[in-house]
Amino acid sequence: MSEAILPGSTIGVLGSGQLGRMLAIEARRLGYRVHVFSPDSDTPTGQVADLEVKSSYDDLDAVAEFAKQIDVVTFEFENIPIDTINVVDRFTPVYPVGNVLHTTQHRIREKNFLQTAGIPVTPFREIRSTEDVQAIQEGELPGVLKTAAWGYDGKGQVKVESIEDLEAAWNELNCEEAVLERFVDFSDELSVVAARGRDEAIVFYGPMVNTHCNHILDLSVTPTSFPPSVVQEAIELTRTILTELEVIGVLCVEFFLRTDGKLLVNELAPRPHNSGHLTVDAHLTCQFEQQLRAVCGLPLGSAAQIRPAAMANLLGDVWQQGTPDWLQALAMDGLKLHLYGKQDARVGRKMGHLTVLADSPAEAAEKALVARRALQMKHGE
Ligand code: AMP
Repeated sequence: MSEAILPGSTIGVLGSGQLGRMLAIEARRLGYRVHVFSPDSDTPTGQVADLEVKSSYDDLDAVAEFAKQIDVVTFEFENIPIDTINVVDRFTPVYPVGNVLHTTQHRIREKNFLQTAGIPVTPFREIRSTEDVQAIQEGELPGVLKTAAWGYDGKGQVKVESIEDLEAAWNELNCEEAVLERFVDFSDELSVVAARGRDEAIVFYGPMVNTHCNHILDLSVTPTSFPPSVVQEAIELTRTILTELEVIGVLCVEFFLRTDGKLLVNELAPRPHNSGHLTVDAHLTCQFEQQLRAVCGLPLGSAAQIRPAAMANLLGDVWQQGTPDWLQALAMDGLKLHLYGKQDARVGRKMGHLTVLADSPAEAAEKALVARRALQMKHGE
């Protein structure tokens, strides 16, 4: 095993959104320097990094220059081209290793990996041509047609009820490869975030119970009230996935809990996850510090939870009536506000989140929703 990368060293981050920002904040707290690479400037990560490099991921000379100046590289966005990762890898170690990225950035590869590892997944069919579409039987619907690559937050997916819908959706998505998933009759969506160190130790957060709005995560709460058998199974499936994929870093597993009590894996994210943002305030060591510790070869920290917590996302929608009333929310006991430094508050864009700690998960969830509503009210209303 290579030597640990100690405080004082320089971490490189590919991708410059809020996940990189929160990683950079943890890295700087621990005395590391942070360089970030992305096609943008004045980014959420760049604002807190030592150095922000603006360049295309396809500019492999710029990628090589970036890589030469740092001690270890990680990414905060899984759609980084594999060629970019391969160039970085020539100069400096990258974690999680490129193979993890290769598997998880493509739904067909990801599902085939999971099935081979014996992990239950949503029943699916691979779609690459009109012939594949025509081979689908009415009995396999309703379903969700999803592009194999580049999808996130519900983008690149269409619900289909009939064969006609499916044909229209295949034309609409206009991609080379897709998966048709059976529509799952789930009672809940949950996630487990886990970190695996270079010494192969694994720590877990959750499960978190997640509610989505327009396919975007809205609220995450933990601990949950699922039966211990469901919690244990979610953790064990996550352990198998991190071990089989040989992840060094953080990975999130998103699950559907079917109405008959069976867990299915929906998808994997090979990085800290939105549903793990509450770990920043509610756990002894947060998901971002674990990512740093794992990729640097340090021992992982305790993932113990301090208090029940709920996290509510703040999308650009919250800004549509004017600047949110921060004072109202900040006056609430147990509330922590996180803003990502983004200027343009577009509808659906993740601008920040708030986490509330309380005596019970239900109380935390209630307070988080009340606080978010309060942001959109004027003083005295
Ligand atoms: P994804 O981007 O695949 O995580 O999908 C975003 C959201 O769409 C999920 O969190 C679910 O709420 C919903 N969804 C996706 N796939 C399915 C499915 N096969 N059955 C039912 N709902 C789904």
